[in-house]
Amino acid sequence: MPTRATKFSLRDNQIPTAWFNVIPSMPTPPSPPLNPATRQPVGPADLAPLFPMALIEQEVSTAEWIDIPGRVLDVYRMYRPTPLLRAKRLEKALKTPARIYYKWEGASPAGSHKPNTAIPQAYYNKAEKVKRLTTETGAGQWGSALAMASAFFGLKCQVYMVKASYDQKPGRRVMMETWGARVTPSPSEETEAGRRILAQDPDSPGSLGIAISEAVEDAAKRADTKYSLGSVLNHVLLHQTVIGLEAKLQMEKAKDYPDVVVGCVGGGSNFAGLAFPFVPDRTRGGREVKFLAAEPTACPTLTRGRFEYDFGDTGEMTPLVEMYTLGHTFVPPPIHAGGLRYHGDAPALCRLVKDGVIEAVAYPQSKVFEVAVQFARTEGILPAPESAHAIRAAVDQALACKETGEEKCILFGLSGHGLLDLQAYQDFLAGDLIDA
Ligand SMILES: *Cc1c(COP(=O)(O)O)cnc(C)c1O
Repeated sequence: MPTRATKFSLRDNQIPTAWFNVIPSMPTPPSPPLNPATRQPVGPADLAPLFPMALIEQEVSTAEWIDIPGRVLDVYRMYRPTPLLRAKRLEKALKTPARIYYKWEGASPAGSHKPNTAIPQAYYNKAEKVKRLTTETGAGQWGSALAMASAFFGLKCQVYMVKASYDQKPGRRVMMETWGARVTPSPSEETEAGRRILAQDPDSPGSLGIAISEAVEDAAKRADTKYSLGSVLNHVLLHQTVIGLEAKLQMEKAKDYPDVVVGCVGGGSNFAGLAFPFVPDRTRGGREVKFLAAEPTACPTLTRGRFEYDFGDTGEMTPLVEMYTLGHTFVPPPIHAGGLRYHGDAPALCRLVKDGVIEAVAYPQSKVFEVAVQFARTEGILPAPESAHAIRAAVDQALACKETGEEKCILFGLSGHGLLDLQAYQDFLAGDLIDA
């Protein structure tokens, strides 16, 4: 047995002090969101009832770098930098000449990348004297992250949790309540939007669209309350770039650079967070780096959607945004990767796909769980079903290298752990997992 380690891990104290804004590096900037009634671009005044001014400014900013406030860095330091690991055992199992690295965001206390934006969102709300935040959550990852961040900054947190998940995932609800949030199954009797749905269907299992409508209505009605969103918006993608900025530095220390950057896409925030800091190397520096977004065939937004203006929610309460969309009334089948069941995607990400900078691929969940189990057996981590889409795409890239003999460097984002998704693993292991 060799006595020297064959695997490296970097855990130094270098974390970025500014977020990276991709917009100046894009071949075409994303089109502005429109007011559905007037078809005119929405202005800061339209968004002010829902978001603090600092976040509205970030939403429309064209500055390339935006400083991270010291109090946000203090909290980031509790779990950042997250590890960049080389998947040597997976490489060996695949018998690939490729080098596979992954950036491990499940190392955060909430178990995913979502605290990277929940923390600054809570901070900016607190700084503008907001007392209470509302949000929606599907599978519970985003609600958990915002509940934790609210606890850190002394804010009340109200989470509308899709009723089907509320019943199926008590673990996530208990986490949110432990961090001090109030969790309400949606649709609820607490809002007009919820009461309207319940009047028609008292047993409604709810949906993300309905829960968004409840959280937005709650925030719009109360002066002490604002609304918080966990993906899709420019400021969310911006906050997530800490992932890619760290990964770039960590790759540099490993004396390597990715030929392929891979991530899973629900609304686009973890993929953008990892990939965007590498984008100018290609769009301005002419470096040949391939960007690959992985999504479920059950909700194939980037691979099958239309590029057009659409509502962000089912209830038609949000502005119109230009993106790849399956239509705002599209209801995806109930796959285990709940975080990837959104009908649209972040406009900046969609624009880069439209312009050919980013490519996309879709997988059925049986193919995804196959590699999730292989990853667990080789690298130890039980990935979130969402993250396993990225593993699938990375593994397929590595298997292609085996065919061609290319020694490519593959970097993928491992956005979270699956320790609260064990039902999905149980179904897969029992052979009961069906492809929608
Ligand atoms: C929410 C979530 C996603 C999908 O959201 P994005 O905004 O596309 O990143 C992916 N993985 C995990 C673990 C999540 O919690």
